[in-house]
Amino acid sequence: MAISAIIVAAGTGSRAGTGPAKQLRLLHGRRVLDWSLEAFAAHELIDTVILVAPASEVETYSEMFRAADRVVAGGATRSLSVRAGLVAAKAAGSETVLVHDAARPGLDKRTITALIEALQSHDGAAPALPVVDALKRTDASGRLSNVRRDGLYRVQTPQAFRLELLERAIHEAPDSIVDDLEAVERLGARIAFVDGHERLAKITYQEDFDRMERLLAPLSGPRIGTGFDVHAFEPGDAVILCGLAIPHTARLQGHSDADVAWHALTDAILGAIGAGDIGDHFPPSDEKWRGAPSRVFLEEAMRLAREAGYELGNCDITLICEVPKIKPHRETMRQQTAEVLGVDMGRVSLKATTTEGLGFTGRREGIAAQAAAILYPAQ
Ligand code: MG
Repeated sequence: MAISAIIVAAGTGSRAGTGPAKQLRLLHGRRVLDWSLEAFAAHELIDTVILVAPASEVETYSEMFRAADRVVAGGATRSLSVRAGLVAAKAAGSETVLVHDAARPGLDKRTITALIEALQSHDGAAPALPVVDALKRTDASGRLSNVRRDGLYRVQTPQAFRLELLERAIHEAPDSIVDDLEAVERLGARIAFVDGHERLAKITYQEDFDRMERLLAPLSGPRIGTGFDVHAFEPGDAVILCGLAIPHTARLQGHSDADVAWHALTDAILGAIGAGDIGDHFPPSDEKWRGAPSRVFLEEAMRLAREAGYELGNCDITLICEVPKIKPHRETMRQQTAEVLGVDMGRVSLKATTTEGLGFTGRREGIAAQAAAILYPAQ
């Protein structure tokens, strides 16, 4: 059976604020619409990807979205746009369609496969999530009543149907029905729910973009970051490197504890999630961070990474100095770093080098550190 995916992108999306239509905004560097277009295009069971564009933008969208096999003009209402998509799907020889909202970028391969499989025993299928929040209804006077949530679901898209069934359902549905699933159910069709996902939620408002960015992180592949830092020596008796006080004839100058190794690593992790640098999060102008242990900075960077949906793959720190000698302390420093990051030691590498007497490190004026970190979407 030939299968078409129809992405309905003809609406204006005005509720998500001004600026470009929401389907053109970027999430992890890809336009909202690219996410689902490419998910369909990459799926081996989808033969044709049809994009229903705003009527005035068909040419522009054809240029902009090469992953679509066909770009057709939408109508004034969602059901007119779905109809336009169905005409194109029929022309492509499809018997089955998956109809999807452009504003739901979090589509993955597993959901597409599950929907297509469900159609083997049902007339229609949709991703759905059970309602977990308490539900209340208010009447005209503002009085609250409880709604039992057993058996209640939030239904998402894509929704999969046999093409002819959906065509007939939309044709016969009164104008008041705008939902494909509802139109099909009216004909007594058997509908299956497959597992929905928070990622498949619809972007409606401006604030949904931040949330979606976090939710989509796991689909966006690994991220790499690098960091670099320098601190000068001043009179003292120990330097702090990776949280370890190493006896020395000087200490490192700085607003915090001047742990140059962890500063570079903090920047590498922040860099990997595109969250700025250590100075953005812990401004040296803020008295709060005077003498602060750099553990706090590193912990916060890792917390932000996890909040964004990532886990550390590995990290590699290089210390550049003539003194003190790093090697005797290396394993302790790796251990402490792994502990703060909440990972095993195998994911933390630490090296040291000199600059052969050249430059400020060669003159023993301070210590430089560089770090790289790679983050993977948390499973
Ligand atoms: Mg620093």
